Amino acid sequence: MKHLPDFIQRLINEFDKLPGIGPKTSARLVFNLMHRKEDIKELSMALSDAYKNIHLCPLCYNLAENELCSICANPQRDKNIICVVANNQDVEAIEKTSEFHGVYHLLNGLLSPLEGITPDKLKIHELAERIKNNGVKEIILALDQSLEGEATAIYLSKFLQDYPVTVTQLARGIPMGANIEYTDEITLGSALKNRKKV
Ligand SMILES: [Zn+2]
Repeated sequence: MKHLPDFIQRLINEFDKLPGIGPKTSARLVFNLMHRKEDIKELSMALSDAYKNIHLCPLCYNLAENELCSICANPQRDKNIICVVANNQDVEAIEKTSEFHGVYHLLNGLLSPLEGITPDKLKIHELAERIKNNGVKEIILALDQSLEGEATAIYLSKFLQDYPVTVTQLARGIPMGANIEYTDEITLGSALKNRKKV
């Protein structure tokens, strides 16, 4: 789209990088935004705050504003129980159930050899370090019921055999093929409560 001002084309390119948004949707979003100058101001300030403040928690790899994320920094949370999840959306889904009082470990994805996501691309070594250093008692694998989720769960349960921790997995009840992110709070909460030893 050569006739467009350069800054608009740049914005379209940036929106296009987000998941689930193709070039057409990206262009539609940007054109819509260009007619709302106040919203552009809000958005640019929010983005600039995010750029200045956001980083990953060095313990669990969740998003954090301060040194540690709000969950790791909370003295009420049980540091001996770590719930292993793929990403930020899964943390949000589990927090909504109010059934979990431990801390998290974000793998930053799931194993998918076809897409080049091998164990070394995930935060597995970092999980092992946490277990070694902190007297962790239980690891809960809360991973999607997908091929990638299952493969990751199998890999991790084997990997964790060498460590003195109890490894558990969410109870069945989450529909086959379902993502943690899209499972309702009640189902997810009871899958967590009724978790099974691996
Ligand atoms: Zn954290």
